[in-house]
Amino acid sequence: MPHNSFLREQCYIAGEWVGPTVSKDASTLIGVTNPATGDMLGKVPNFGRRETSQAIDMAQIAFEDWRRRTPDERAGFCMAMHDALMDNQATLGELLTLEMGKPFAEAKGEIAFGAGFFKWFAEEARRVYGDVVPSPWPDKKIIITKEPIGVVGAITPWNFPSAMIARKVAAAFAAGCSVVCKPASETPFSAFAFGVLADEIALPKGVLSVITGDPEPIADEMCENPKLRKVTFTGSTRVGKELASKASRHMKRISMELGGNAPLIIFDDADLDKAVDGAIACKFRNSGQTCVCANRIYVQSGIYDAFAKQLAEKVSTMMVGNGLGDGVEQGPLISDAAIQKVESHIADATERGAKVITGGARHNLGLTFFQPTILTDATSEMKIASEETFGPVAPLFKFETEEEVIKAANATEYGLASYCYTNDLGRAWRMTDSLDYGMVAINEGILSTPIAPFGGVKDSGQGREGSKYGLDDYINVKYALFGGLAK
Ligand code: NAP
Repeated sequence: MPHNSFLREQCYIAGEWVGPTVSKDASTLIGVTNPATGDMLGKVPNFGRRETSQAIDMAQIAFEDWRRRTPDERAGFCMAMHDALMDNQATLGELLTLEMGKPFAEAKGEIAFGAGFFKWFAEEARRVYGDVVPSPWPDKKIIITKEPIGVVGAITPWNFPSAMIARKVAAAFAAGCSVVCKPASETPFSAFAFGVLADEIALPKGVLSVITGDPEPIADEMCENPKLRKVTFTGSTRVGKELASKASRHMKRISMELGGNAPLIIFDDADLDKAVDGAIACKFRNSGQTCVCANRIYVQSGIYDAFAKQLAEKVSTMMVGNGLGDGVEQGPLISDAAIQKVESHIADATERGAKVITGGARHNLGLTFFQPTILTDATSEMKIASEETFGPVAPLFKFETEEEVIKAANATEYGLASYCYTNDLGRAWRMTDSLDYGMVAINEGILSTPIAPFGGVKDSGQGREGSKYGLDDYINVKYALFGGLAK
């Protein structure tokens, strides 16, 4: 096992490190492997309902104190968490690369991105204002206050093992909520690292717990336990829908950050070099395993061949390898199932007439390494047009008119991120208005930042994370009527 001072093999429940020996339910452990080498990194507890219920009990007790702390005090803890993440950026980045595979530079970037949410919400914690509403009665006053929802259950994915937790936990802390987090089974160590940091900053016990195990019983306990008031989830649309329906049965608030099928649209009038660089950043970051990765690249006919040639030239020189290696730009995919999905999308596309102009196969490094791939002549009938590939494959679709591409881009049940390259100001505005997505980037390939609202429409979910709107998801609005004020 590699030495990394943050690597823990126990769950963090209300300030205690808890291994499977104390639980009768934890009959098995979950093994965690490094996707770049296949080596076992460690084993974590396979906990279930009982431990989740214990963590919720402790979170409820902690909540009663935490909610009454001043915003300034909670802001102090958020800022301390930001500083602790940044002070340990390289070690945490290494841990993230070891368990998830992304290049070390991207992993360090993710730690800084996550830390940014703690900084942002440290500032926002002080700005949870209420209202005094002009009263329709001369002897009564109407006051609106905002209160933390309560204990929050957070379920997070493997593709951003640190930042997806930070984005939820930072907002919850600022609002005054306590959190029980269940990270993905592939990447528990970056989640446990928050426990190490919580100890380091002396976060009150129970404000944060991190628990690993079988997702269904843990999720069922979160949805059914009356002490837990909100479920926030980032992951696939399939699981998100299941979870939303269970949580709704018990009237829990929900936030759902789900899958995407992002269009990237490049018009003839775009700056070709910038569009190519934007496409690479947007498509190949994290080996294509982000919910905001371009899944469909629409290129107008006048620029199509030049764009395809330039993109293929750059992509074919991308360095693939172990994320800890110097200069590596693309790591392995997370699992063999992920690589099989990529292969099935390429096979389906080529059977239906697409051409592979670079890549197209597993990389000679073996394991789950895949060649960065470009397909031309993609069409709407191909699986790749309607399903999230979640891998390093860029299909290029040709289009003629603005109307045609808007229709094609919106022809999906998803609505998370969308991108458009054009130098026509009027067109940029028209596209922004017409794209049926929660986020639109014009002439940029990367759009996430703690200060802007991240989230989708349609099957991409509901709720927003980050920004001033991110706090609303952790807050209840209370109306107080003060009567009898006449003399
Ligand atoms: P996933 O299979 O839905 O898993 C996400 C989390 O849900 C994991 O912690 C997983 O636990 C848990 N889970 C699995 N089955 C569950 C169940 N039946 N009930 C409750 N929880 C369950 O998604 P993924 O493959 O890890 O992540 C990729 C997906 O996430 C993509 O669709 C991507 O677009 C989306 N995503 C969205 C955003 C966003 O902000 N919109 C950000 C990142 C990723 P186990 O690991 O233990 O199975």
